[in-house]
Amino acid sequence: MTSHHLHFHQSLSELSAQSLRRTRRVVDGPQGPTLEADGVKYLSFCSNDYLGLASHPGIVDATISAARRYGVGAAASALISGHAQAHETLERELADFVGMPRALYFSNGYMANIGAITALVGAGDAIFLDRLSHASLIDGARLSRAEFSVYPHNDIARLEHLLAKCRSPRKLVITDAVFSMDGDIAPLAALTALCERHGAWLLVDDAHGFGVLGPQGRGSLQHFGLQSDCLVYMGTLGKAAGVAGAFVAGHADLVEWLMQRARTYMFTTANPAMMASAVSASLAIIGRDEWRRERLREGAAYLGQRLAPLPWKLLPSSTAIQPLIVGDNQKARGLMGHLRSRGIWVPAICPPTVPKGTARLRISLSAAHTNEHLEQLADALLYAASALAGDAP
Ligand SMILES: *Cc1c(COP(=O)(O)O)cnc(C)c1O
Repeated sequence: MTSHHLHFHQSLSELSAQSLRRTRRVVDGPQGPTLEADGVKYLSFCSNDYLGLASHPGIVDATISAARRYGVGAAASALISGHAQAHETLERELADFVGMPRALYFSNGYMANIGAITALVGAGDAIFLDRLSHASLIDGARLSRAEFSVYPHNDIARLEHLLAKCRSPRKLVITDAVFSMDGDIAPLAALTALCERHGAWLLVDDAHGFGVLGPQGRGSLQHFGLQSDCLVYMGTLGKAAGVAGAFVAGHADLVEWLMQRARTYMFTTANPAMMASAVSASLAIIGRDEWRRERLREGAAYLGQRLAPLPWKLLPSSTAIQPLIVGDNQKARGLMGHLRSRGIWVPAICPPTVPKGTARLRISLSAAHTNEHLEQLADALLYAASALAGDAP
């Protein structure tokens, strides 16, 4: 081996030794409540396709028609010639859907966050981040060169203290609306009031609330009925919407500024127009099919009740994210392995993704899960608990 790569080899071995080495499984066929991976069929509780739209026939048809009209590639960045009628229409629809003056469609949520944060603040400014913020928000904060402080999860009092002593000309508070590993909802009304009082912007990352929360799935701000010039809303379109991309919505001048300055918007080839058409088709279904959100609520209530006897605690969550806290890393992984051997795929999430001692199974519900699917999961978990306690039948 050349010395160039020795370093990687050793670091990879260390990862393996600590059971931190990640692998991928090869999925064949569409995403749905069941999934074929490496030739084996699984019942899936591991996707963010919360509304069961990722393989919706109507959305697939809309994508195919759009491919016939626009072709497949956008061929240029949006500001050169990659911005098609489909993108233009979608941005209008997204803004109307979340009740904001204007929206800008990005390639994905990771880039939307990085682009928005770095365009809003820079050196000399200040960012305040919830401790459990998504990696893309942390990376955006770092790239911005603004000074950034992390406040304890949902700790409004602590944030108020930090804002009160901040002397920076521009302040940006950043939070997930629904936290991706806990499924809890940020106190957005209190955060908005606080930001208004302190002249700060509030960037709300609604990756897990868009489509799921609010009337007609219009997202977390609408869930709380919030409206304010300090709000900057980010929604992703690869999760509940089942397609790809993301958008940032807010005051028209702010969104125009993002179009002028967000580098992850300017210096990348636009998403294909057919993806924008797919999202438009998805948006119509999100608004119309209340039964999908009703299924999620029923699923969450069912699990809460069936899993209550377990030795592990299901975090209270009214969203599609239902975390089962196991505690110990090896135990969480063991439980995942046990479920997998029974044909059920639920990911174990371990530190550093979550705090030490809180390793968990991240159960993701989908509107496409049937009652039988949920029963299978509950039965398997109850069986695993008794097996691990040593009194398995
Ligand atoms: C998934 C996710 C993102 C990134 O969105 P992509 O479109 O997948 O890049 C950003 N923020 C949060 C909270 C997420 O869960």
